[in-house]
Amino acid sequence: MTRRPDTLALYLEFCIAIRSLTRLHRVSVTSWWRSHEHNRNERGLPGSRHLDGVGADLILDQNEDRAAVMKTARSLGLQVVDERDHLHVELDPV
Ligand SMILES: [Zn+2]
Repeated sequence: MTRRPDTLALYLEFCIAIRSLTRLHRVSVTSWWRSHEHNRNERGLPGSRHLDGVGADLILDQNEDRAAVMKTARSLGLQVVDERDHLHVELDPV
């Protein structure tokens, strides 16, 4: 079963996790909420969590420790996918 962002609490949990990541590491959010059209253009999955605002893409500053960012993200309850040119993070399914 996957947690759906059908409650404000889950959405806020995601927002707080992103906020923490940007404060603990030198990262920038390049994609968060997407329209369906933009998601198709980005070749996002039809059920992408970007569509519900609980998926985001991050880029790291040049000297940031990628493994450390991923570890922190997971500790904040996020699932991390290394897409090489960015990290995709989303609420970790329960
Ligand atoms: Zn993404």
